[in-house]
Amino acid sequence: MVRPWRMGQGHPSISSLLFFSLVMVGPVGRVAGRARLLAGVRSWQNRHVTYNFSSGPAALPAELVNRIQEELPDWHGTGMPVMTLSHRGPDFVALMEQDIMQGGGMGQFAAVPLNLTLPGDEVATVVTGRWGLTAAEEAERLGLTVRRVADQAADRYTSVPAEGSWTVPTSARYLYYVPNETIGGVEFPYQPVSPVPLVADASSQILSQPMDLAAHGVVFAGTQKNLGVAGAVVVIVERELLGRARPGCPSILDYTRGAKAGSMLNTPTTFAVYVLDLMLDWVAGQGGVEAMRTRSLERAGLVYSLIDASGFYANPVDPSARSTKNIPFTLADPALDPVFLAESEQAGLAFLGGHRSVGGMRASLYNAMPLAGAQALVDFMRDFERRHG
Ligand code: PMP
Repeated sequence: MVRPWRMGQGHPSISSLLFFSLVMVGPVGRVAGRARLLAGVRSWQNRHVTYNFSSGPAALPAELVNRIQEELPDWHGTGMPVMTLSHRGPDFVALMEQDIMQGGGMGQFAAVPLNLTLPGDEVATVVTGRWGLTAAEEAERLGLTVRRVADQAADRYTSVPAEGSWTVPTSARYLYYVPNETIGGVEFPYQPVSPVPLVADASSQILSQPMDLAAHGVVFAGTQKNLGVAGAVVVIVERELLGRARPGCPSILDYTRGAKAGSMLNTPTTFAVYVLDLMLDWVAGQGGVEAMRTRSLERAGLVYSLIDASGFYANPVDPSARSTKNIPFTLADPALDPVFLAESEQAGLAFLGGHRSVGGMRASLYNAMPLAGAQALVDFMRDFERRHG
């Protein structure tokens, strides 16, 4: 039996927030390097961090952090922290029925091919950045011919191909794209259409704006940006695409097996599930994805306006494809980068360094970032330019 995404009493699901109801399953978790984590904690422990601009793990809404703190010792009268409850016990199963998922984002780069193709098949992709490239490489490792029907390499991944400018061969098993490329800060301004199932890596876009789930065969998103904390991935699969996993697909990556097991083929990342549940409630309580979109545009508008009005800061992305979630920017003099980072940290603006592969700066503005956070960033940038420009 395939279990659809089921909602608990009064609890929203991602599908309901996005207005469609499909099937959700989720494989495989990833564990962050403990040493790296501890190093990060040490370097931040004595600072007063006001706003977190990390691309993920990303900020949580302040009220959620308070709520987690309050109910940590005693989740819903059980007398126990939620992540210590048995995942088979009735209390936790109730939570999973509201938020069916587990796993990690990069696993989907393999899970998608393993569930939708056989070795030797052809798939299509539109590459607008690093995450799309990495997914294409993984598909190739799994024996697929990946047809790059559009690839923005010539623009150094600072643009999105014009709508309708590519052709997808109908022999392709699916068309893959990344609605929002987190590293390059490139976002599709339109919804691609496809004659074959459309697969979206919505890791850094989900719930920041409405999304037409019905146009997609598979949508997946890691939870560490707009859905809470790291450790899980939400996967939405069109029912018709189930039952196609290739022979030898590991059970934990098999959408159909995962769905049949209620996303509990193995021990789920219970804390991430719990926080996801809180995040969905929070988004719904804030007015849903339309409200998230309005705020997202406001936040990003503040930062882009400052960049565009300045001769000191620059954003390399084609204005029509600029991301409202991740804003990379450079300073006129790269020698000032470390100064900018040090001063912004002192000012309580955390994690503004660009991805290690591209350098420069990047401000990630997900749902949990208040407008005041974007304003604080803009105020700091203006002041920095005045002093160093
Ligand atoms: N896709 C996108 C668009 C991402 O931004 C990321 C991570 N930032 C990933 C995939 C990889 O996700 P994970 O780290 O959960 O494997």
